[in-house]
Amino acid sequence: MGIKVAKFGGSSLASAEQFRKVKEILLLDADRRIVVPSAPGKRCSTDIKVTDLFYECNRLAAAGKDIAPAFDRIRERYHGIADELGLTADLDAHLEEVHKNIQLGAGADYAASRGEYLNGILLADYMGWDFVDPQTGIFFDEEGRLDSAKTQDVLGAILREHTHAVVPGFYGCDSHGNVKTFSRGGSDITGAIVARAANADLYENWTDVSGCLMADPRIVRNPEPIAHVTYRELRELSYMGASVLHEDAIFPVRIAGIPTNIRNTNDPTAPGTVIGYEAEERDSKYTITGIAGHKNFAIINVEKAMMNAELGFGRRLLQAIEEQGISFEHMPSGIDTMCVVVHEDALEGKKERLVQRIHELCQPDSVEIHSGLALIATVGRGMVRSKGTSARIFNALTRAGVNIRLIDQGSSELNIIVGVDNLDFEVATRAIYREFVTKEEPRW
Ligand code: ADP
Ligand code: ASP
Ligand code: MG
Repeated sequence: MGIKVAKFGGSSLASAEQFRKVKEILLLDADRRIVVPSAPGKRCSTDIKVTDLFYECNRLAAAGKDIAPAFDRIRERYHGIADELGLTADLDAHLEEVHKNIQLGAGADYAASRGEYLNGILLADYMGWDFVDPQTGIFFDEEGRLDSAKTQDVLGAILREHTHAVVPGFYGCDSHGNVKTFSRGGSDITGAIVARAANADLYENWTDVSGCLMADPRIVRNPEPIAHVTYRELRELSYMGASVLHEDAIFPVRIAGIPTNIRNTNDPTAPGTVIGYEAEERDSKYTITGIAGHKNFAIINVEKAMMNAELGFGRRLLQAIEEQGISFEHMPSGIDTMCVVVHEDALEGKKERLVQRIHELCQPDSVEIHSGLALIATVGRGMVRSKGTSARIFNALTRAGVNIRLIDQGSSELNIIVGVDNLDFEVATRAIYREFVTKEEPRW
């Protein structure tokens, strides 16, 4: 018998009705023996994620206030699921313990992690499967980084003891034995870690869309799903904003050569997206694989005549940025200019000092910082074989009346990045999509 690890996202487990769909999916394939649940997510667009309610509880507790207003809503969410499904787990006892600990100041990570913990208890009960607490099997080191070797050893051994298991997503154990969460959306990472530790044949990531789509469905109406994508392409897309899979969920499965399949809980017959090495061998349907982007970047523009001949200029510029504890995203440069793109919020409270240090270290002719920049990445393993891809992007943007403020094309030709005004972000994304998908004949 094989092993498939199935991670279900928040909207897939937001209600009793969703729990029923999940059970049906799990029972359809005997290999689906390990499940990684998220906390209950939104049931409709105006709903609040349980994780956000837990963060609110922690804020109230930290301010010395009663957490009841937020905690009562959490209680209601879990009871809504447990009562309708007739579950027998002692939910009230668990809720009381969690309530007490948060009110006493257990902290943000503990509070946020309880969303997944409690949902895991309910799902284990509903499935009749064993509950495995990731606090006993997923470890972070003293610097807060995942301790892959220890996790692989301990979690691997624990999972071998269970034929069927529920492992809550989003958290593990820090070097002092306390709960520590991943960054938001981190249940995707847990799923990948569990798949590796279980030596799974497949990591299934079940969500509310039919795979990774060629563009964000909140910007482009009904974008085409991507059938096959390489790890490298998906890493670029998710890092740049395709939020369907956490950008760090790729590493554990890639290292182990385990393919990932993104599937739709609400449309389980759709094949979804397969991420894996074999995608390298497949021709993509279009010239590009997908488009993703993000708003709110800033460009630090530094000019100096004859910069090209000055040894160490780039190093000193990056030193000034590093000294402020800011990491940079891109660094397109010309003969007498160098641009460094950073996240806008990383500059908060640091702009003046940064400009001063650049002046001291680099003696430039000018330093300007422009914010309100959106970055859009057009990604595709097929671009390297097609002529004129960048020209098509620029023409499409020009026709849409979008001013391009920055261009960055990696040497791998996997990714062409353009910077546009925040205000043009959606129009520009749609223009690129139209150029390569709506207008282009599929090449199969
Ligand atoms: P889950 O709770 O299942 O982890 P998420 O909300 O984290 O789900 O991710 C799924 C959402 O990602 C989709 O509903 C969609 O709005 C958004 N999304 C953004 N970009 C893309 C994309 N390129 N393809 C698919 N979904 C995307
Ligand atoms: N529940 C967590 C969050 O909302 C983790 C996840 O959904 O993956 O960020
Ligand atoms: Mg997610």
